[in-house]
Amino acid sequence: MELEARIAAVRQQIAEAARAAGRRPEEITLCAATKVQSEETIRAAIAAGITVCGENRVQELNAHLAENAYQGAQVHFIGHLQRNKVKYVVGHVALIQSVAGEELLNLIEKQAAKLGIVQDILIEVNIGAEASKSGASPEEADRLAALAGQMEHVRLRGLMAIPPAAEQEGENRRFFAEMRRLFVDMAGKKYDNESTMDILSMGMSRDFTDAIAEGATLVRIGTGLFGPRPTNRAHG
Ligand SMILES: *Cc1c(COP(=O)(O)O)cnc(C)c1O
Repeated sequence: MELEARIAAVRQQIAEAARAAGRRPEEITLCAATKVQSEETIRAAIAAGITVCGENRVQELNAHLAENAYQGAQVHFIGHLQRNKVKYVVGHVALIQSVAGEELLNLIEKQAAKLGIVQDILIEVNIGAEASKSGASPEEADRLAALAGQMEHVRLRGLMAIPPAAEQEGENRRFFAEMRRLFVDMAGKKYDNESTMDILSMGMSRDFTDAIAEGATLVRIGTGLFGPRPTNRAHG
């Protein structure tokens, strides 16, 4: 299938999942997970209507920014962000989806202050409590949100999660439902007057329809749009 046809098919599935859940398709943002994709593929995806790209490696983000590959779309950072790479990401992306700890939050605030900008962020929640994954516990997420609420150069927009890899279809629905409860609960707290908790980022190629059924407002899809990634390189 051509890229355009794949994008159309995914959009169709998003729309169907939204309607089945009594939601409007426009409520859900499609974020194309562009890791390992070439500049040409990224440009082609944007030409075919992709409006948000998600990168999870700083090196690739940097290279594609230098090529101006994301022209016409937003780019989000969705991967593990190391302390020494913060300066390459803050101010270069519309949204950092993967803020998982206090130290990183402080560094983002500091860098954004230096640039004189406000950086939009999501807090990443390790909803499956997996030792192998980064992400805050629900309690820690609440504490981070309160801290972010005190910061002048960070604006908390919501939560992101990567639940455990499901072995069977539907297995992750309970994690998505838990995320939704946490999101609604935190959004209701209004940690400060500025924050607008309006983004719940969850769902990937295998499980995005379940995520939409449980309230996702942004889904991150790679394989479903671009086909299988080469497996010879390790990518998160
Ligand atoms: C790669 C990636 C995705 C997309 O994964 P697919 O299974 O290919 O759809 C989503 N979120 C993050 C954080 C990723 O790194």
